[in-house]
Parts: sequence; structure tokens; C-alpha cells
Amino acid sequence: MIKDRTDIPALDKRVPGVPAIEPVLFPKLDALYARRSSRLEELAFELVKEAVQNEASSAPADEVNAGYFGFLATLVAAQGRILAHSPLSLADAAPVRALLRGGSTSPDIPSQEMLENTQYWQKAFAALVADAGDHLPAETQESLQALAAEQPGVLAAQAYALLSGQYDQVNAGAAVFLWAALSVFWAQAIALLAQDDATLHQRRSEGGACPCCGAPPSGSLVLTGDREGLRYLQCSLCETRWHKVRATCSVCDETGHIDYWSFEDTNAPIQAETCGDCKSYVKLFRLDRDPALEILADDLATVVLDAALEEQGFIRAALNPFSFPA
Ligand SMILES: [Zn+2]
Ligand SMILES: [Zn+2]
Repeated sequence: MIKDRTDIPALDKRVPGVPAIEPVLFPKLDALYARRSSRLEELAFELVKEAVQNEASSAPADEVNAGYFGFLATLVAAQGRILAHSPLSLADAAPVRALLRGGSTSPDIPSQEMLENTQYWQKAFAALVADAGDHLPAETQESLQALAAEQPGVLAAQAYALLSGQYDQVNAGAAVFLWAALSVFWAQAIALLAQDDATLHQRRSEGGACPCCGAPPSGSLVLTGDREGLRYLQCSLCETRWHKVRATCSVCDETGHIDYWSFEDTNAPIQAETCGDCKSYVKLFRLDRDPALEILADDLATVVLDAALEEQGFIRAALNPFSFPA
């Protein structure tokens, strides 16, 4: 058993009275990677157990999935090693600061040129390929190594396509590595900038995108402990969490036709929150019901819920960088 080390910073209780709701929370990144990696390992182990029990029909699929979860655990642990051994400097965060454009507007989407001139994430990509690539078939590994050895412009074009949602333009095997490299860069940059920029702590989301980097959320969390019951969306790129009142659509802000779906009873720890007005949905991970949940890992483990919602005509308003849309 691994003790749950939360990646959510403790609430500042020095000010007496009812604490104000913080618009934005920045995670403890080292704890976030450690939690995510161990949760992925745990789910891989569950899948292996299921494969043994279900010998017949779904066993081969369970084994493939278990292999993928195991690989992702290694990839996330490798992100943690980059954070520990080659942390980003404040000077290297400057290109991300330039995208913020002051306090009140949504951040700009990075240009291909910015990505080409930012070496940190490119080095992170090469490090992740070297560290986690040997869990992949030799052919995939070779094509990743070839991409890592390309000119920065080639890598930047792939990263730009990925960040702008042109998934069919991206080398399928490389997408997960590219996002992991971009994410370990962006998450550190935002955390560093937030240390001396109070306006970052007050930013609000526009149209459901991350207020600090503009990327889509991976899902939403209902917190526990000192922030019991508060709902935050979590960014798929920079890992920032932003507050959103419960039972409010994260895309269109409507409250009139919100419904909750799950395969279990009404106390399910993972639910989908659908909006009848704009037909979007995000999954809700209730840490108050199961504190072991981790957005990316548990989202990937519950894709059957997505299939059921898409059958009902709802459109997913979240991105899981472990599973890009085809
Ligand atoms: Zn973000
Ligand atoms: Zn809506």
C-alpha cells in the first residue's frame, strides 16, 4: 500500500474567518507525478488480475491495456525525474510569460516559432524517449529516436499540430511523448511564474479553457479536506486547477439542464456531468468519495462511460493526453 500523498497544497489558514475560494490552485508537481505514476501501476495490476480471472473473452484486451498502463507509469515517473534533476529556470519560463498577456485575458496559444525556440521541452522529449521508450516495440522506439534527432523545426511542427488539435498531423507513437514533454515544461513554467505574479492566482477561465495556458481540461475534481465539496477543473497541459461552481456547465456556464451519469448507484466516485444546453460533458472525479482517484489514470480506466455518453449524443469537453482523439 502506498500512502496517499496529496499534490494539492494545504489551505492557508492564517487569515481568520471563512476562507475565500481560491480561483486557481497550483499543484505540488513532484507529488502529482508520484501519485499519477503509482495510480497507473495500481490500475495496471488490477487489469492483470482481471485478465487472469476472465481467462476467456476479454483477457487479451485486458493484458494489452495493462501493458499500456504500465508504460504510462514509467513515462510519468520519467517526467518526475526531469523535474528532480533538470528543473526549469525562471529565465526559461519567459516564453510562457509572454503568452499570458496581462491578467484578465485568456493566454495566447503558442506559435510554432515559440515552440521551435524553446529548447527545454525538446530536451525533455529526447530524455523521455531515452528513459521510457524501451517499453515500446523496437520499431516505435526507432521512429521516436529518429524524431528526437530531427531539427527543432520538425519537432516544433509536430508539437504545434498537437497543441492546436490537429491530431491527424502528428506521428501517432510520438503524441504521448510530445505532450508529456510540453507538459513538464508548461507546468513548471506556470508554477515558477505564479511565485511572483499574484495576478496568475486570480485568473478565470473563458469558455472552459485553462486560464493559465489555454489548453482544455482533463476533467474535474471534487475536493476533500479543508476544501470539502469544492469543484476544480484540471488542466491537461500545465496541471493548474481552476474553480468552477458545482452543477454549472464548464463550457457554456448554463445551469438549467445538468445531469449526472454513472454505471453505479448515486454515490459513484466517478460520474459524468452532462449539459443539456450545449450537449457537452466532463467527468467528475470525487476525491471526497475516493481520495485515491487520479484524473488521467482513472479517466483512461473508465472509457466505457465515454462510449455510453457519446451514444447519448454528448460531446466530450476534456482531453486526456494518454489517449488523443483519432
Ligand atoms: Zn493550463
Ligand atoms: Zn453547456
